[in-house]
Amino acid sequence: MYNFNHVSIGSCLNTLPIGIEISNQDKTSYIERRVTYRKLNREEIKKIKDRKLAANHPFKWIGMVISYLVDSFGDIPVYDEYAKNGFDINKLPEIVSEIPASDSNFILFAGHIFNFGSKIKDVKVKCRNTLCDRESTFELDLSNELMVFTVPDKLDFNRILEVTLPTGYKFVSSEESDPSLYRVFKFRIPVLGDAIKQERWYQPNDQGSFHERIYADCTLSVETTDGLEFPPERLALIGPSMYLKLEADDNAELENIMNEIPRIDTRLTKICWNCSEDISFFVSTIYLFPS
Ligand SMILES: [Zn+2]
Repeated sequence: MYNFNHVSIGSCLNTLPIGIEISNQDKTSYIERRVTYRKLNREEIKKIKDRKLAANHPFKWIGMVISYLVDSFGDIPVYDEYAKNGFDINKLPEIVSEIPASDSNFILFAGHIFNFGSKIKDVKVKCRNTLCDRESTFELDLSNELMVFTVPDKLDFNRILEVTLPTGYKFVSSEESDPSLYRVFKFRIPVLGDAIKQERWYQPNDQGSFHERIYADCTLSVETTDGLEFPPERLALIGPSMYLKLEADDNAELENIMNEIPRIDTRLTKICWNCSEDISFFVSTIYLFPS
């Protein structure tokens, strides 16, 4: 297990929590964590505020916002590349697809702070205490209040995740009578390109098979605890349905692993003005980029 730094976003705006894996032509690769933002103009802010686009293409929208917000990752230009492609949302700069999905969320918040400052007024949150049920209004200071789990400098996060599930995937082959239990799953961390590819399956309130499809795309291998590998060609055929068949405790374990990926932590806890109980809520990107 890693010892992640837990720091305010204001102290690490220009360092991605994980970083982008950049492959060179000679097959070597390195991790780029530096990000430089740019100031948005009014026309760009209008495009970002296109609610219909954000609803219909939530992940392409994130890619577009990042293409406007980011001048460069290290020495690799982003905005200029997007300009060269005629600001076409279907031709996002290649590097944008390679951003770890969890880093892309960080960039939205950090890029907002760079452009609009740290304060967000009038965040309305309803109290969960059913006897109270009132709405409180808060002013947030993103730079200081939002925390980031980030990898310490000079350390690279291992992008291959391995998990042994409590139950696992049960499979009976035609040659054997007893089912084999495949419990050891290895996958790479999801990148924004994975989410864009599967975004038509995403619905805000009903996740459908979106997550299972991403898991399937990111799966590197599935094995029994004895090291018997599930045949890769069959894995490709089964795809997301393997994940849809997992039991609840297995899903919870997968979720735990995903929560161990370095990321921005958008959960805040405030005190209800009416009943003084704690209210926890997630700061939504809906509050970002005011017109
Ligand atoms: Zn209350």
